[in-house]
Amino acid sequence: MNPSVETRTSIVWDYSPAPESADHIRLKDRYGLFIDGDFKDPADGRYVPTINPATEEPIAEVADGGPDDVAAAVESARDAHPKWAALKGLERAKYLFRIARLIQERSRELAVVETLDGGKPLRESRDVDIPLAAAHFFHYAGWADKLHYGVNAREVRPLGVVGQIVPWNFPLLMAAWKLAPALACGNVAILKPAETTPLTALLLAEICQEAELPPGVVTILPGDGSTGASLVRAPGVDKVAFTGSTAVGRDIQAALAGTGAHLTLELGGKSANIVFEDAALDQAVEGIVNGIFFNQGHVCCAGSRLLIQESVRDEVISKLWARMGRLRVGDPMDKNTDVGAINSAEQLSRIETLVAAGEEEGATRQSIACELPEHGYWFAPTLFTDVSPAHRIAVEEIFGPVVSVLTFRTQAEAIEKANNSRYGLAAGIWTDKGSKAFEVAGALQAGVVWQNTYNHFDPTAAFGGYKESGFGREGGPAGLRPYLEVVR
Ligand code: NAD
Ligand code: MN
Repeated sequence: MNPSVETRTSIVWDYSPAPESADHIRLKDRYGLFIDGDFKDPADGRYVPTINPATEEPIAEVADGGPDDVAAAVESARDAHPKWAALKGLERAKYLFRIARLIQERSRELAVVETLDGGKPLRESRDVDIPLAAAHFFHYAGWADKLHYGVNAREVRPLGVVGQIVPWNFPLLMAAWKLAPALACGNVAILKPAETTPLTALLLAEICQEAELPPGVVTILPGDGSTGASLVRAPGVDKVAFTGSTAVGRDIQAALAGTGAHLTLELGGKSANIVFEDAALDQAVEGIVNGIFFNQGHVCCAGSRLLIQESVRDEVISKLWARMGRLRVGDPMDKNTDVGAINSAEQLSRIETLVAAGEEEGATRQSIACELPEHGYWFAPTLFTDVSPAHRIAVEEIFGPVVSVLTFRTQAEAIEKANNSRYGLAAGIWTDKGSKAFEVAGALQAGVVWQNTYNHFDPTAAFGGYKESGFGREGGPAGLRPYLEVVR
């Protein structure tokens, strides 16, 4: 054989590395608790490192709030509330607007820190998390002087001090979802970030200082589950807003029963992504990929149950598998990376346990071949076929890059299977027929239904669940209601 031909045909066209630089990041070695407008040492002096899940290297030490710190936070928030609530809506709006602008100004830094601390691809933190966080502050800045119109012209008042607990999958974005509507409505907030991803919330605390937000209006209280547990039980907290697992949501609801404190819960999901035979299949495949591999599948509304109409099952699966083979898994700081690191060792072991259960129960597993870095937590994008509706991988939230395929024959069967879940957070419908999309959407028990798209977020649209996915809505005018009490 002609050697030059051999060389030519063996050329592998690949992307060059495109790492984002972290040189411009100036993190402190230690972050305290942001209470009363300043960073403070925790009462018991406890600091814990937060690590980069892609390298397992520590990034900074972060205070771990205890019960005394929770008490100090509530006291400062209570003191701050009357003045904040008495401000004209237009004045509160100015602060929210400033925060939004400062997030934009510091967006490059925030994106890099989000990726370092949590493992998500930089492309996502840069293009989704940070811009959407700013957009939520802008959106609710607009509502602050128009609350009346957001609640059917009723007379309303804020609830007071709200305790907010967020997870690690969208750290800054979830903080924005929680803080922006609460502040717009005249509440003051104590936010507890997740233990593996506290850094962007602490940078947001710096932004609150820069925006000259009055002390006590926003408190950032890093810590673990026990910090969260004392926050929700603290006397003087008028409302709790929680996003995270159903188990913790249940615990919080039990703790608050009978106390008179308000509560909203945004919990897990096992959302159905439904592909009908008349869908544009290539487009659907992109939507399936975005639905389950976006953010390593660490998405409460991930399209983790893929329902395909039997007539197009083989075609969709072969296209999907081919597309999955082109996913780039690895260094989250590389701008070409599609799937980054799993957020923590604990989460990786949860994913591994459920995937092992899928294999044991008889489903067929295919994971893409990819070279995974030596350090850090990784899981190759995985497809399960031959799944029965009773399998654990069809029922339980995996919260990882794993999709379970089920099939259906008729529209009625699609609806029945999609609703056959104790969750009801989101769903996707892929069809060329508008009437079918509306009919199916109307029959689905899901807070959000996407048509011919998936994982599309917008601050003007309400988000929230049915059944064990929780209650209450975030986003848009509906997101104001859980932070207000109707007076008349
Ligand atoms: P989690 O519910 O334990 O943690 C979420 C937040 O709640 C964190 O800030 C945590 O510190 C806090 N918390 C933990 N225990 C608490 C308690 N008793 N009282 C008050 N706050 C408490 O979630 P996890 O353990 O990190 O993840 C477990 C599973 O939860 C995941 O595999 C996934 O299925 C699901 N999850 C869902 C979401 C979502 O967006 N709906 C987010 C994260 C995790
Ligand atoms: Mn971390």
